Amino acid sequence: MKKWIGIVAAGLAVTSLCGCTMFRGLNAEIDTLTLSPAMGGAAVTDVAAPASAAPTTDAPTTVPTTEATTAPTTEPTTAAPTDGRVYQGTTAKGYPIFVRDGVTYVETQYGDVILANKTYTLPEDYGPGGLTPECDAAYDELKAAAAAEGLSLWIVSGYRSYSTQQGLYARYCAQDGVAAADTYSARPGHSEHQTGLAIDVNSLEYDFAFTPEGQWLAAHAHEYGFVIRYAQDKQDITGYMYEPWHIRYLGKGLAAEVHASGLCLEEFFGVTSVYAD
Ligand SMILES: [Zn+2]
Repeated sequence: MKKWIGIVAAGLAVTSLCGCTMFRGLNAEIDTLTLSPAMGGAAVTDVAAPASAAPTTDAPTTVPTTEATTAPTTEPTTAAPTDGRVYQGTTAKGYPIFVRDGVTYVETQYGDVILANKTYTLPEDYGPGGLTPECDAAYDELKAAAAAEGLSLWIVSGYRSYSTQQGLYARYCAQDGVAAADTYSARPGHSEHQTGLAIDVNSLEYDFAFTPEGQWLAAHAHEYGFVIRYAQDKQDITGYMYEPWHIRYLGKGLAAEVHASGLCLEEFFGVTSVYAD
């Protein structure tokens, strides 16, 4: 018990650096390095392997071999990727998924959506340096809407760089050992905060969910382009404990769809959030 208290205390001490990771002790969002799959590539293959995806609609067995000669000219699907996209196939829900510069994206009708979770990593040099302009503007709108209701929202933790997370994690490992550190500190490259699209608001305590602000956020965040990323009943799927304070910017169209679906982002896209080791 003493050790846990020490760990929690250590987490609290670095609140300003670690954001939502810290206090949860057990919370995985912050997790660990050890599993870090070769940053990017390896993890991707986990997802796009639905057995049903393999067979195409071409029905090759019934196609006479003579037709094969004419087929090639009409199949330029393998055309060279233009902007560096390396397609990985589709997710279990049929969304095209690709990697560009080590970052994994899902293609949607609303645009490309960055994935950052236990399966999908971000490169060390990736990071907008702060909240993205879109996320920042959307948050301002969210905050103003809350204020109009007499509610106060503020940012506890927004963007966190790879190096910030790496430094924290290394320190925790030196202090408590890797196994213990992995239980309360995120591995660098796995935090959604590195995308500049995630924000922890107000309080990193679960009771936030029961405050007027927490309840308003849960009911209205999607109207401003955000979703409560780690839902209470989705821990086994998101890989993270319930975080009523952590919102992820998706844009209004997609956020509204995800919210209405009742699914977490992994379920919605049909992807995993599992460390490679
Ligand atoms: Zn967070």
